[in-house]
Amino acid sequence: MPRVERTQDVIEIHWENALVYGVGGVLFLGLFGFLLYYGTEGSFIALTWLMLVFGLACLGYGTRRAIEVRKVTSVAYTCPYCESIVELTEVAQSDFSCSECARVIPVEDGEVMPVHLVRCGYCHELNFYSDKTEFLVCENCSHEIPISSDSHGHKSVPKFYAVVEDDALYELVLVESGTKTEDLIACLQRMLALNRSQVKQMLDQLPVTLLTGISRRKADMLLAQLTIHEGGAEARPLV
Ligand SMILES: [Zn+2]
Ligand SMILES: [Zn+2]
Repeated sequence: MPRVERTQDVIEIHWENALVYGVGGVLFLGLFGFLLYYGTEGSFIALTWLMLVFGLACLGYGTRRAIEVRKVTSVAYTCPYCESIVELTEVAQSDFSCSECARVIPVEDGEVMPVHLVRCGYCHELNFYSDKTEFLVCENCSHEIPISSDSHGHKSVPKFYAVVEDDALYELVLVESGTKTEDLIACLQRMLALNRSQVKQMLDQLPVTLLTGISRRKADMLLAQLTIHEGGAEARPLV
């Protein structure tokens, strides 16, 4: 199975190489200039021209790596857990981890599989599972959440713990900001597509409605995301 590569990682490696060879090339050319100016005798001549060759070769290679950055392809996937965008260099052939929330994103036939929510029976924290989950351990308290499989491989959880999806619409209200303010600001910026100062302004006016008219499922997912960053939020049904 081919390894899944993130577009951002590949671009960074290209730039890193471009930079190293670019700087190396300039240094060699500097040495060339120095030797040309001061060391014009005997064996220095060969060394002088060797520096020129090294310098040009490094610069050439560095430039090539810089050009390759433009050729890096990108397929965008939305993380089913935190809704951040993960860009891969090609269609995903296997599961890959989200660069934002570090959870493993299940993939089937190049598509992200749907994930479902289940409430932990011990600590009541929300957890995710998909048809690929064999063994589910609560992210919060490490207790096992029982999961069973039918003959088609579809996974289900005990009814009592399953998060029931209703048709009602909810609003998500942030009531507390906790101590990890920087993390929370970054999380809210992504969630709401706002800039930093807009988010900071919001945090000064708690409680504040973050989103309105969203499904229970979406509200629960966002709640779970905010909880990680100590953001105290509530999903309130719209009446
Ligand atoms: Zn994620
Ligand atoms: Zn738990």
